[in-house]
Amino acid sequence: MKYAEVILPLPLRDTYTYGVPIDLEPVISIGSRVIVHFGKRRYYTAIVIDLHEREPNEEYEVKEIHALLDAVPILRRPQLRFWKWIASYYLCTLGDVYKAALPTGLKLESETVVSYNDEFIAESPLKPTEQAVLDVFSGVLKLSLSELEKKTGLRNVLSVVASLMKKGAVEVNEQMKQGFAPKKQTFVRLSDDYKGEDKLQEIFVKLKRAPKQEHLLLRFLDLSQALNPLRNQELSKKELLESSGCNLSILEGLVKRGVLVYYEKEVGRLQVPVCRLKELHSLSENQRKAYSEIHEQFAQKDTCLLHGVTSSGKTEIYIHLIDEVLRKGRQVLYLLPEIAITTQITERLAKIFGDKLLVYHSKFSDNERVEIWNRLLNETEPLLVLGVRSSLFLPFKDLGLIIVDEEHESSYKQQDPAPRYHARNTALVLANMHGAKTILGSATPSIDSYFNALSGKYGLVELQARYGNSLKPNIIPVDIRDLKRKKLMKDTLFSPLLVEKIEDALAQGEQVILFQNRRGFAPVIECKSCGWIPRCINCDVSLTYHKYRNELVCHYCGYKILLPHQCPECNHVELHPMGFGTEQIEEEVKTHFPQVKAERLDIDTARTRTAYERILDNFEQRKTHILIGTQMLSKGLDFDNISVVGILHADSLMNFPDFRAHERAFQLMAQVSGRAGRREKQGTVILQTSQPNHSLIQLIEKDDYPQMARLQLTERSMFRYPPYYRLIEIVLRSRNESVLQDLAQVYANTLRKQLGERVLGPVTPPVTRVQTLYIRKILLKIEIAAAITPIRELLDSVYCEMQRYLPFKQLIVHYDVDPL
Ligand code: ADP
Ligand code: ZN
Ligand code: ZN
Repeated sequence: MKYAEVILPLPLRDTYTYGVPIDLEPVISIGSRVIVHFGKRRYYTAIVIDLHEREPNEEYEVKEIHALLDAVPILRRPQLRFWKWIASYYLCTLGDVYKAALPTGLKLESETVVSYNDEFIAESPLKPTEQAVLDVFSGVLKLSLSELEKKTGLRNVLSVVASLMKKGAVEVNEQMKQGFAPKKQTFVRLSDDYKGEDKLQEIFVKLKRAPKQEHLLLRFLDLSQALNPLRNQELSKKELLESSGCNLSILEGLVKRGVLVYYEKEVGRLQVPVCRLKELHSLSENQRKAYSEIHEQFAQKDTCLLHGVTSSGKTEIYIHLIDEVLRKGRQVLYLLPEIAITTQITERLAKIFGDKLLVYHSKFSDNERVEIWNRLLNETEPLLVLGVRSSLFLPFKDLGLIIVDEEHESSYKQQDPAPRYHARNTALVLANMHGAKTILGSATPSIDSYFNALSGKYGLVELQARYGNSLKPNIIPVDIRDLKRKKLMKDTLFSPLLVEKIEDALAQGEQVILFQNRRGFAPVIECKSCGWIPRCINCDVSLTYHKYRNELVCHYCGYKILLPHQCPECNHVELHPMGFGTEQIEEEVKTHFPQVKAERLDIDTARTRTAYERILDNFEQRKTHILIGTQMLSKGLDFDNISVVGILHADSLMNFPDFRAHERAFQLMAQVSGRAGRREKQGTVILQTSQPNHSLIQLIEKDDYPQMARLQLTERSMFRYPPYYRLIEIVLRSRNESVLQDLAQVYANTLRKQLGERVLGPVTPPVTRVQTLYIRKILLKIEIAAAITPIRELLDSVYCEMQRYLPFKQLIVHYDVDPL
């Protein structure tokens, strides 16, 4: 008898053994999905990770595999090795990794909801079981797999559904689809009235007096080959305008004359349509130098850090590197933080790489993600994947290069649920498994990566000049405490200098960005009489006031209530906002500059991808002149008309009880400042702070990243923090605070017996309760050279020991390796 070891999509430590039925023996392979029974009457999609003939011990009854879903494995060999590494380094289970790695569409389970595609037409006769499943859908569109199983009485309904999915008859439901409308694009074609040469002759005669329209029409005919039925190609409005250099009114002129006609077309989401590919830009001298330095580094090292200021052309360099790797027939993965994947970057890459580009984004539906998965599994042509952190799990065949852009971004770390992996660090491991090179890019590298570059582990390439040698912005700190004392900033968030600069910019037709890393109107509301502050009932935080909806909202759990008319403690009616968020800035912009169009960019206004892109689009096309926002503003956006950036309150970024607070504050402020000034004109950054003499403010003013990094490194080595020590956080949560407190103490003491002073805590985090669970943390500071396996064994044994305490069951425990 043959046995299969499988991983279940559950947080289980072990793999499970199932018997392989005789008829499956010749076809089953490692990396295939199978349907298995687990627990009471529940089915799961499991992954085969080993096949063997070892008899399992007789204590437990071995069940048989229920069905095989794939004749060909859906995983490639190195993927399993990659999963195992993640589980072992990030102290989680293989089941956790499996759950994160596979798109939902590929891991059906009893609860998965399936919907019927009522446009489905069968191309070949359906099997009786398939027909039976579809029959159940009469009158209902959605059913969960367990309901389907009950209604059809079929034992292996999962595999039937899987085959119906392949045929397009049903699809699994997704939650993520919200706000993702099909994308439409406007195309241009020749009007039917002007299809003949004579007709065109006529129009060209008329156009003699409209040379711009003539030029545009010629360009159109050239690009679209409209007169040549064999080579005729579709041409988008956008592309026509761009490549002719004409403005919209000229095109509109031709449309009015009836020569050209617009039509709308829905375009695919996986690929951005382009008709003709563009040539690569040639690199500037500085860029060429950086490019060849990267190659020199790659000759000796696998990883290279590209430290290049905003708009120095890092992306341009990536494009050249990608082109080179694709030409060699290898694949490329280009990672960006979720929010930085915008139409801007997608179109830029699509213009050059055309259908070789695949985009993998969390806002894509599950079906689309499965589509991308399958393309990578089957495609033999080299491909470029532009994706978010989870694209690391795609079935790559042969990666030659991984680019981690904006490598300092903390959103590369997955917080919840496990695996709590860091996509940048994990990318390095994946690259190693493929023999690929990795380039980490940033204008403000993480201290960790910079340290690795200084110590010679990574190559370091610097690119300090902006493309076209435009000037770096002039950063001016403004002392708001002094201004307030002198009554020069009464009842306003804007210093006189900021107002003056904004006025100047607007008068010149230039744009302005205002940054405050807090959304809502005010982070805290206080009763003027008794000092009462409204707090969340689930979490230990104060509620943020959102004036627009007149609501108090918890930013941790979403709990909200209407703003009370009076204080519930003392009935006083004056509730007073303290501090300020983006909403308040927006309101003040309206009073200061009533004629000016302004918009706000934060999670509240950009809930959906479409809303986000619309706000950016409006700003790019100069329909709005002032953009107010949170750190969402700082993510790799390329605008060319911003002359003033206002940072309204630097202090709220700096005063955080976290050893990374200064690193982050520097990165954020430098990134936001980098948006100011392009091309010929130098931009201005007004940095409002009540601590103008703070060393960090001065470092930002001088734009001195290396010095900031040196100071941080000194501190971290002194206080035993990364990159000198590895941190592992043990997070304990419970509804019962006293049990939690007691057991956290016992836990820490037990650990201390073995690890001594490497154990810190238990500590109560700044926010002590989230979503009704109290939290305690134990911190381990481990020598960087220590191997992870013995640590895992030790942690496991302590965890087992803790089971002796009965109330330990009331605790939820997880590890966070390299927490951020
Ligand atoms: P970064 O990624 O460092 O912010 P980008 O690559 O986005 O910089 O470049 C900034 C701007 O300068 C972009 O609009 C880009 O098209 C332009 N640019 C940069 N390098 C070149 C080049 N070699 N040729 C033409 N345009 C360039
Ligand atoms: Zn009160
Ligand atoms: Zn809450």
